Amino acid sequence: MASLYYCPSSRCPLVGYHIRPVPGYHDNAIIYWDIYPKYIKELFIDSFTDGIRNPKKRIVEKVWRDAFIQLMDSIVYCPKCGAEIFFDIDKRKKGIGHICWSCQSSVAIPPIIEIGEHTVMLNKDTKITQHHIRDDYNLGSVVAQVIQNPKNPSRWGIQNLTGDIWAYIKSDGTQQLVEGGKTAPISRGAKIYFGSVTGEYNVE
Ligand SMILES: [Zn+2]
Repeated sequence: MASLYYCPSSRCPLVGYHIRPVPGYHDNAIIYWDIYPKYIKELFIDSFTDGIRNPKKRIVEKVWRDAFIQLMDSIVYCPKCGAEIFFDIDKRKKGIGHICWSCQSSVAIPPIIEIGEHTVMLNKDTKITQHHIRDDYNLGSVVAQVIQNPKNPSRWGIQNLTGDIWAYIKSDGTQQLVEGGKTAPISRGAKIYFGSVTGEYNVE
């Protein structure tokens, strides 16, 4: 893969093509590059190398939208300083831990729910939107939220905020209905059937 970057800045002394961000001119790119998961970096590299010269190699809008929605779904919080970091599936596959960019603390990844192509971190404030279950880019309609069990604060669940009835499939295969307002516990091996797609918990 080529390693040329195109710099559109008229302030840059190397306007046009050059091999990497220039310190003093592209400091944000240098500082933030390693924060991002591999799939985001690859899109930028493809866009600013092959995509510069070959329109057919450019990243289409849908790919960018899907990637940035996945990036939003990947946010987890540093337990020590509260900074937002991004879960990187590539790191997990390689057994590499997540480190806070701000305070260098180790960051544990919360439970995850995988819904179709979406991998959503289940933080204490996570909202699941209509887009997650219908792929319609409706990010404004919240269909579920992570909620703490009021009787047992160590237990968390996903509360159904719709009028639809979902099914909760426990790890032993038994099922129960999740009506509007009710909560499906977050539990290893369990699934939620949202009516058109199934979400599967991924709990380490
Ligand atoms: Zn931190």
